[in-house]
Amino acid sequence: MTSPAPVVLVFLDPTFPGGRLADASQPQLMVTDQGATRGDGVFETMLAVGGNVRKVQAHLDRLAGSADALDLVIPGQDEWRRAIATALSEHRVQNPPEAGAGDRDELVVKLVVTRGVEGATAPNCWVQVSPVGAGARRQRETGIDVILLDRGYDSDAAERAPWLLLGAKTLSYAVNMAALRHAHKQGADDVIFISSDGRVLEGPTSTVLLAHVEKADDGTSVKRLITPQLDSGILPGTSQGALFTAAKAAGWELGYGPLEPQDLLDADAVWLISSVRLLAPVNHIDGKQVGTPSVQKELTAELNELFAGIQ
Ligand code: PLP
Repeated sequence: MTSPAPVVLVFLDPTFPGGRLADASQPQLMVTDQGATRGDGVFETMLAVGGNVRKVQAHLDRLAGSADALDLVIPGQDEWRRAIATALSEHRVQNPPEAGAGDRDELVVKLVVTRGVEGATAPNCWVQVSPVGAGARRQRETGIDVILLDRGYDSDAAERAPWLLLGAKTLSYAVNMAALRHAHKQGADDVIFISSDGRVLEGPTSTVLLAHVEKADDGTSVKRLITPQLDSGILPGTSQGALFTAAKAAGWELGYGPLEPQDLLDADAVWLISSVRLLAPVNHIDGKQVGTPSVQKELTAELNELFAGIQ
């Protein structure tokens, strides 16, 4: 058996200003915590490169929005920032990065909030730091094959039924993980969810992006980056948001859905994007090739470079 990945835990605790270090190999929660018994809580997953968390403000803002949707009162952002700094520096003391690791010096930083046991006056909140899995790095390079799966909600459900928490990042990811296992059983790597009214939504842990390149007669080209519209019951991706800002500054045109499955097949390139795996180029959808490999490669390199500049 391989040894477990080194994990550092820091709980947010009013009596410890920088957070309270805890042993990840020891029990830390009551088994009756509603995070464990009901998936009642919220989380964020972030990437730290060279010891700095990328897009930390966007993640803290989304965590606050998710907590608000669940009526959870969580500590302020300064407290989270201090606990993140403690957890990252402790991880780097325990597992010093290789000299000259550069962009390979990556860590996953998770922020987790559970509602606590029945009647608890405050939620349990912690920061968890661990290494990036080899699978995420591989898929950035090789790309992925995806299948389309029905999510069972129409694209207006989020607005009509806010209690479904469709735009919040809750701990209830059992459905998302089941969709991924379903894809793996079909020989695919990932999933793009489709609404019951036929709209492209998102991946179980990622945002969908597609690109079109139009060449003008004078040899110049117009590049357009498109994502499903944000009010269709999807999680607003911090990576998509940051990449759109960078792409716009670099001259790309931006677009928001509605998108249908055929739009994915007609695109010059499609990606699933998220904070840790970053841009994963989509090679096949339901067995059909997507875009043109040479264009996909070129656009992926360009977008990766833009994304690398994001702090
Ligand atoms: N959509 C879902 C359902 C997700 O779980 C995630 C990330 O985990 C994303 C989109 C992408 O979000 P981000 O780019 O902020 O990581």
